[in-house]
Amino acid sequence: IKWSEGVGWHEAQLVPYAPLSLDPANMTLHYAQAIFEGLKAYKRADGTVATFRPRANAERFQASARRLAMPELPVETFIDACDALVRQDRAWVPSSGEASLYLRPFMIATEVGLGVRPSNEYLFVVIASPAGAYFSGGVKPVSVWLSEEYVRAAPGGTGAAKCAGNYAASLVAQAQAAEKGCDQVVWLDAVERRWIEEMGGMNLYFVYGDKIVTPELTGSLLPGITRASLLKIAEDLGYEVAEGRISVEDWKNGNADGSLTEVFACGTAAVITPVGSVKSTRADWTVGDGRPGEVTMRLRKALLDIQTGEVEDTHGWMHQLG
Ligand code: PMP
Repeated sequence: IKWSEGVGWHEAQLVPYAPLSLDPANMTLHYAQAIFEGLKAYKRADGTVATFRPRANAERFQASARRLAMPELPVETFIDACDALVRQDRAWVPSSGEASLYLRPFMIATEVGLGVRPSNEYLFVVIASPAGAYFSGGVKPVSVWLSEEYVRAAPGGTGAAKCAGNYAASLVAQAQAAEKGCDQVVWLDAVERRWIEEMGGMNLYFVYGDKIVTPELTGSLLPGITRASLLKIAEDLGYEVAEGRISVEDWKNGNADGSLTEVFACGTAAVITPVGSVKSTRADWTVGDGRPGEVTMRLRKALLDIQTGEVEDTHGWMHQLG
């Protein structure tokens, strides 16, 4: 679907997958007006296909567009475009359990020009790819590197938007994590380098027995849809849930005195991943006993059961395509 100044959204087309042809002076290539989303379509136990919370993705996409001075795509247009692609690719939606069809909606500037200003033309596209279960052979805890040298997002920056530049800026820290033998980066706040924000592509949760805490939305971390869903699911399951501030010292001390029992990360790709160990310039430690925790696995199952249709969708999160 295209957008241009004075015309608005027009020319919705469903076309076979093919390369895009871009002018070398396309404004996206130089000034990075590029935003995206990620969501999944599941084939459910009863044979129907449904996407998980596409409205939430559509609304976050609008928020990202506002931050990047791009036009907002109407929520219904976003959902209709995803639906049309899933219907077309229905045969590619895997039919077993956690496997899904991953959808990647994105928007880029398409005007040609070298001046730094918002483009007058945009292109919205959705592509799809089948995704297997994230963990084959059992859920495996990840090891994380606390990034003190690099920050992902600063107050007033684009951290709460899902824009391409955030990921470009994170690659060097991800490479550093890999050098330290870790799977993922954990980002700290930009000002004090003390408060836990999020992981590379996932939000974090800290489990203190029956009490569960997730870092509050400060404006510099992504408001994850899995994060928001788990706030509700954890409450449904009777846990005491809160959004708050957790520092590196809180994590280390809670771990040392045993009050912090589990830590997990959550996002569309892996749903829930236990965090098994932490490395930083100051200290390394194992989280709990280093194995997937009971609360982590219970929440993981509760969310997946909704997504795969094993239990009733009491929150109205599944968008049925028939
Ligand atoms: N943080 C970042 C930086 C991400 O890229 C993602 C993945 N979209 C998340 C958190 C988790 O968000 P969601 O639950 O909506 O997938």
